[in-house]
Amino acid sequence: MPPLRKSIPLKTVVARLCPQCALCCNGVLFKDVELQPGDDATKLKPLGLPLSPIGNRQSAIHNFRFPQPCAALDGCRCRIHADRPARCRQFECALLKSVAAGKTEVDAALRAIRVARQRADQVHALLREVGDVDSKLALSLRFKRTKRRFEASPPDDARAEVFGRLTLAVHDLNLWLRGKFYP
Ligand code: SF4
Repeated sequence: MPPLRKSIPLKTVVARLCPQCALCCNGVLFKDVELQPGDDATKLKPLGLPLSPIGNRQSAIHNFRFPQPCAALDGCRCRIHADRPARCRQFECALLKSVAAGKTEVDAALRAIRVARQRADQVHALLREVGDVDSKLALSLRFKRTKRRFEASPPDDARAEVFGRLTLAVHDLNLWLRGKFYP
């Protein structure tokens, strides 16, 4: 698809889109973030990132990760922006790249963000309705956990009906995220 107009500096696009979004930090796009070579866990932990080791007792612990929603997220802003891990610095979602390349208008991108956040809010609401209120866990993990719970102990009709709507809402959200955000 030919560009709609000339490209925009990425920094400018980030300033327009990310303060309205935070989907890559709030547990909607990702369930956790792995530290990368060059990241210093001893510096990041005191900044409030709950790092957990990756690796089992037999093997040397070789890396760390922290869960999403991120503890450093304040609204749509990163509280440790200047010191954020490498993965956070490197990640550019497909929407950001498309606007920067002149393939998507900023207003269309802001609409896409609003749709994604609305669909995520709907999933949050339906999860609460079926008894999962743990907003400190990534959306995908909460849905998987609820599914396992209902497989182990089938819900009553009312809850089963809500779970059906939840499954559809998760599907709709994932389709939208796959189409607009995942690189
Ligand atoms: S450290 Fe900042 S940029 Fe990285 S996930 Fe957390 S809030 Fe987002």
